[in-house]
Parts: sequence; structure tokens; C-alpha cells
Amino acid sequence: MTASAPQIDPPFLGEPYLLTPGPLTTSYEVKQAMLRDWGSWDDDFRAMTRDMRSRLLALLGEGAGEYDCVPMQGSGSFAVEAMLASFVPRDGKALVLANGAYGLRSAQTLQYLGRAYQLLDKGDYLPPRGDEVAQILANDPSITHVVAIHCETSSGILNPVEEISEAVYAAGRKLLIDSMSAFGAIELQPSQIRYEAMVSSANKCIEGVPGFGFVIARKAELEAARGNSHSLSLDVHAQWAHMEKTGQWRFTPPTHVVAAFLEALKAHEAEGGVAGRGGRYTRNRDVMVAGMRDLGFETLLQNRWLSPIIVTFFCPADANFVFDRFYDLMKEKGFIIYPGKLTVVDSFRVGCIGQMDEHVMRQVVSAAKETLAEMGVASAAPPAAALEERAKLAA
Ligand SMILES: *Cc1c(COP(=O)(O)O)cnc(C)c1O
Repeated sequence: MTASAPQIDPPFLGEPYLLTPGPLTTSYEVKQAMLRDWGSWDDDFRAMTRDMRSRLLALLGEGAGEYDCVPMQGSGSFAVEAMLASFVPRDGKALVLANGAYGLRSAQTLQYLGRAYQLLDKGDYLPPRGDEVAQILANDPSITHVVAIHCETSSGILNPVEEISEAVYAAGRKLLIDSMSAFGAIELQPSQIRYEAMVSSANKCIEGVPGFGFVIARKAELEAARGNSHSLSLDVHAQWAHMEKTGQWRFTPPTHVVAAFLEALKAHEAEGGVAGRGGRYTRNRDVMVAGMRDLGFETLLQNRWLSPIIVTFFCPADANFVFDRFYDLMKEKGFIIYPGKLTVVDSFRVGCIGQMDEHVMRQVVSAAKETLAEMGVASAAPPAAALEERAKLAA
């Protein structure tokens, strides 16, 4: 660890570590920032909103000046819905690239919005590739926008957004990115990857508490979005225009959450920004995955596709392994893990994000080892069907 890295808190008041993709384990300072009340119209809070927006924009690096940041009340899905409704015009058509629950949720959102869309569904975890996207766009000139998921949190796969972006712009279309679980830990610089808008939320890699999301979009797209949204409260253009004019959110802002988020942004900067944060999460993943593999567990994904956000493991084939019991025994030891979301084989997930470092991840592995022994699981090896499923990735 570098000297500037913030100290990792021991679990606060004995609470367990959340090895989940958000809400996640936050620092004491982030929690403490919520002990004060703020008036939403007051200059102090307006300054906080301004500071937050410019700090988020700064994470884009070079070219950030062409973008603006619009916070939206609600959980991440509200911000995704706001982005889709505001940037896909009513007569537009989106291509949704899905390989898990969040991609499918974007498609479902477009369905609700009454926007035309085509779905490329790659199943539980296979990555959508640039050449497939190029093919679909060539076959359907009516598609105006492509929606991609940066890290598909259901499997933990890091999707190849660079090659997707290249295919989208080579075909003269526009890209919208759900970077909910990646932004702040994985670079998404417009100078490297072209896109019109992206969305993330307070309780993922920036390590704030839940309560709002934010859309970062090209200013030209924000201007052009006027009148597109079906929804008053989710209208990104209206929120942006109001915030630019008054410095205020249109409706009651989550004041305490914003105060906590600013504290989280300061810690993010002190840790070395996106590179520092991503570096810690990568060490978390590497230590945890190596330890779990030593115990006999196997990851769903090959190393190439593993994100430093969350990792899916197959449940062991051993008849003594029962996920609910494994979960409870891990929780007793101070670690809350996450059930899997695969449809074909049983799995569980372990998150690498939040206020924890590689030392904590070593404790996670020790806890898993002890738990297997308590359950009488002799081998953590997955069933043959799981490995057959995985072989598809190599094909
Ligand atoms: C967390 C997440 C969301 C938003 O989920 P909410 O439960 O609404 O906060 C959307 N997309 C991805 C990829 C996510 O990881």
C-alpha cells in the first residue's frame, strides 16, 4: 500500500464486511458526515452540489469540458431510466447489449418507456463483441443508440466497451453506458472511449451510501434532450437546466447522502483517484481469487474477463455444500457474501469493492476454509456441468 492510501477501518461497531456490489462497506468518515442536517436551498448545500459535480467530472480526465454531470435522486436504476428516456428520442431505436440481469433491465426499461429496441442477449456471461455489434448495426440502419453495460455485475464480467464503442461510432451511431459498478475504479475517459452519456451511483466504487445516481453526458446531448423524457421527475434535461440556473436540485435532494458522498470523493482522490481505487480493488480480487482457487473453488470466468468489482464462483459439487448454510456461517465470521445470478448452474459471488483491502480478503479466504470444514465439504470443486458451461467461453 502507498503512504497516501487511506486507512481501512475495522468493521464499524462490529458490523460485518459487505462483500457485495453496493450498498457496500463505507468508512467511518463517510458515516460521520451524515450527522449534520443541511437546508437544500442554502448556499452551503448548493456549494456542496457544485463541488460534487465538478469532482465527478474531473474523473473523466482530458475532454471532461465537453461533458456535464447531472445527479438524479433514487437508486441506480432510476438514473439508468432517466438516461434512456432523456437521450433515446421517442422515434429512436436502441440496441441493448445484454449478458446478465442489468442488460436485461435496460431492455425492460425501454419497453416501459415505449422506445423501440433490439436486444442482443448473450446469456449469463458471454461478452458482446465489437464485430457482432457492427453486424447488427449494418443490418438495421434504424438503430440510433447502443446501450452497453460496463461491468455486468450479475456475473462480474468486464465487458469490452472499447471495441463496442469503436463499432458504434464507425457505424455513425451513439453509445450510452451503464457504468454503475465500474465508474471510479475503472477508467472511462472520453479521450480513450467515445460515448454520449454514462451513468453510475453513489453507493458503488466511490464508496458512498445509497440515495442517488448521476448521469454524465456530453453537453450537446443534454441540450438536445429537451422534451424527450416521458417523466417529470426523471427528466435529465430539466434537472440539468434547473441546476445550472439555480444551483439546486429540482425536488428534495438526499442531503445527508450528498454530504457523505463528498467525503467519499475526497477519500477517492487521496487514494490516487481511479488508478488508486482500481489498484486496491485489483489486489483485493487477486488475493481473494488465488486463495479461493487454492481451496478448490473455480471462477465462472477466465482471468481475462474477471473484473476487479465482483467475482462469481461455482458452488462445490460436494453434497454437503448448501449455499444458505455457507452464507450464514460466513456471516457469523463477519463477511456477508452475495448469492449468484446464473440461470444454468449454482453459484455465489464475492465483491471486491468497499472499504477493505487485501488483508481483509485474506481473512475472507480463511473464513471460507473454516466454513467448508464445518460443513464437512471435502472438496470445493464444481460439478462437471459447471465446467462444461464455462468451456463455452473459450469456444
Ligand atoms: C447496481 C447496478 C445498477 C443499479 O441498481 P440499483 O439497485 O437500482 O441501484 C444498474 N446497473 C448495474 C450494472 C449495477 O451494478
